[in-house]
Amino acid sequence: MIPALGYAAHDASSPMAPWRFERRDPGPGDVRIEILYCGVCHSDLHFVRGEWGPIKYPQVPGHEIVGRVVAVGDAVSKYKVGDTVGVGCLVDSCRSCGSCDEGLEQYCERGNVQTYGGVEKETGRPTQGGYSSEIVVDERFVLRIPDGMDLASAAPLLCAGITTYSPLREWKVGPGSRVGVVGLGGLGHMAVKIAKAMGAHVALFTTSPDKAADAQRLGASEVIVSRDKAAMRAARSSLDVIIDTVSVAHDLEALLATLKRDGTLVLLGGAPTPHSSPSAFSFIMGRKRMAGSLIGGLPETQEMLDFCAQHGIGADIELIPVQRIDEAYERMLKSDVKYRFVLDMATLQG
Ligand code: NAP
Ligand code: ZN
Ligand code: ZN
Repeated sequence: MIPALGYAAHDASSPMAPWRFERRDPGPGDVRIEILYCGVCHSDLHFVRGEWGPIKYPQVPGHEIVGRVVAVGDAVSKYKVGDTVGVGCLVDSCRSCGSCDEGLEQYCERGNVQTYGGVEKETGRPTQGGYSSEIVVDERFVLRIPDGMDLASAAPLLCAGITTYSPLREWKVGPGSRVGVVGLGGLGHMAVKIAKAMGAHVALFTTSPDKAADAQRLGASEVIVSRDKAAMRAARSSLDVIIDTVSVAHDLEALLATLKRDGTLVLLGGAPTPHSSPSAFSFIMGRKRMAGSLIGGLPETQEMLDFCAQHGIGADIELIPVQRIDEAYERMLKSDVKYRFVLDMATLQG
């Protein structure tokens, strides 16, 4: 076993604290990665605070990992020592069901293995995430970070990037599309940048009017303050698809009204409590749909990284020492993130 140091939740409410644990010894197909940066996703907070149900502690969160390969198993063919790589939300899946065969490992029919909070097949122990010194992952679940990318601002692409890229591709966003993005946080700001790079017209819905100038700089052509009823009325029937990244229950009916005929509202946010159900007429009048989308599979994640490299896209980040994680969580709860916290793992030993 390899000794590792992480920052872990020890229960649902205490501050995060350093924790020594062990990574498995690399097998023939494994890559051992020294972690350089790890993004802070709102899912980390939902999960460690038990908002999605009870969990086992201690738990190291983090699934936006960028690092350097320090060792590879004998059978590893894609990576070598010194390569810059990423690990996202998945570290394993059954590898043989229909979804896995299609490269949609996130929807593995036998259950995927998430980077934290899952069960490691090799050891039967809980998986532990990227707020840590290193990680050992099968090469099939490792991504290549394209040359020239800023590594700290690439980290959030591993979750926020792919989670927004995947539905934009699924709903065939391109030149001429009119895309709504709800919430300018980690996911939302990536959705704005990526939809803009795909050639779409982007309208941002926000509860924070002071984010308007940033939204325009990031690529939004319109900013709609969602609590302003007149502004919401003016946006009626204007959008083809809406990417909703809000982390709490909110008014979906008002958003459905801004879709054009045949438009789709895609829910990404993992609100811990149910949304109030929209009226049937919100869908009937205009043949509208509501859908969800979960992160992305490995092939599409690599495609997204290459797309972002080609378009010069990274996250807008605040790089912080790992010791400031609790403050980052509190600011995230106040929608005060510009627009993703990234932990500098070099500070872990300090
Ligand atoms: P985040 O950075 O905290 O952003 C969420 C944004 O939602 C806020 O910045 C805020 O934007 C808006 N918001 C907050 N409270 C609101 C309220 N009461 N009403 C309306 N809008 C509100 O979070 P994130 O990391 O982007 O994650 C967003 C959600 O997606 C989380 O629930 C997370 O668990 C989930 N997620 C899902 C997947 C997936 O695969 N589906 C993957 C990753 C994350 P404004 O200030 O602009 O209003
Ligand atoms: Zn995430
Ligand atoms: Zn599978």
